[in-house]
Amino acid sequence: MKDSSLRHLKCLVISVLGLMLLAVLVAWALTMIRPSVDVDSPQVFLQNDPANTGLRATFLGTSTIVLSDGTTSIMTDGFFSRPSFLQLLTSITPDDAEIAFALRHVPRRIDAIFVAHSHHDHAMDSGRVAMQTGAVVHGSKSSLNVARGQGTPEPQLQRLHVGTPVKIGSFRVTTIETPHSPGLLFFGFITEPVKHATLSDYRMADNFSFFIEHELGNVLVVPSANFRAHAFDGMKADTVVLGIGALGKQPDGFAQAYWNEAVINTSAKLVIPVHWDDFTRSLRHPLVPMPYLLDNTAAGMARIRALGQRDGIDIRLLPPLRETHLPARR
Ligand SMILES: [Zn+2]
Repeated sequence: MKDSSLRHLKCLVISVLGLMLLAVLVAWALTMIRPSVDVDSPQVFLQNDPANTGLRATFLGTSTIVLSDGTTSIMTDGFFSRPSFLQLLTSITPDDAEIAFALRHVPRRIDAIFVAHSHHDHAMDSGRVAMQTGAVVHGSKSSLNVARGQGTPEPQLQRLHVGTPVKIGSFRVTTIETPHSPGLLFFGFITEPVKHATLSDYRMADNFSFFIEHELGNVLVVPSANFRAHAFDGMKADTVVLGIGALGKQPDGFAQAYWNEAVINTSAKLVIPVHWDDFTRSLRHPLVPMPYLLDNTAAGMARIRALGQRDGIDIRLLPPLRETHLPARR
């Protein structure tokens, strides 16, 4: 080969490698740039006020929350493995060490897990968590197939039926069908038990919200930020646990309509935003918002804050991994 051709080839290889490196750096930067949350601010987080004598709530990232009255404890979703971006591109399975770490922060026995839908960031650990806590998993056919794939015994799997309340101790949980947040990925039913899955195996077709009634206070949990007109009619909630995932990327009128359906119609006085944190990071690290690449959490929070201020409704995050008393029923 002539010298000039060799030089040309070397230049080409260096240019291609340079471009690849640049692409990796840009991708890395896009997954790192994110808004900040002041984790020590009492203005941001609900504090353990002695005047608050309602249900105890523990936030464990995304839309996983444990509610307890001291005798009975129920959980939504139970997602703790939080696979990294890199793992999401390959294969994902429940991480028992991460699950064990999370479960150290909640009552040893969980009576029931209510799964919003069968995407990985809601359903992927529910079966494992059920086996370790004694809980029954309540979910769609697809969500139950996720749990089934983890070996959860059939008596611990219960299909959810929209509108039919489930009694768990002194809790009464009614399931409401609400749409997934806009921009849905991986649509479809899961018809077989899920084993050795990739991200796209966690398809979803049904999404649920939960109206939880208890003498210590009613809680409406809306895990995915979307609404259906009149879905919550007749439900009075003291607290609304409000999913804000992808809310910052929706048009202005969307947040207003969502707020009216979930918060104004239920006469809630406290709103707890959830699904704001980067679910590709372990719960062992402080929770941080999603990177701008995937969401604009700051814009979503700002919209909800402005609506709360306008309507005199308190907006607080729950401090992660720490049991916090909700205000008592009004
Ligand atoms: Zn989803």
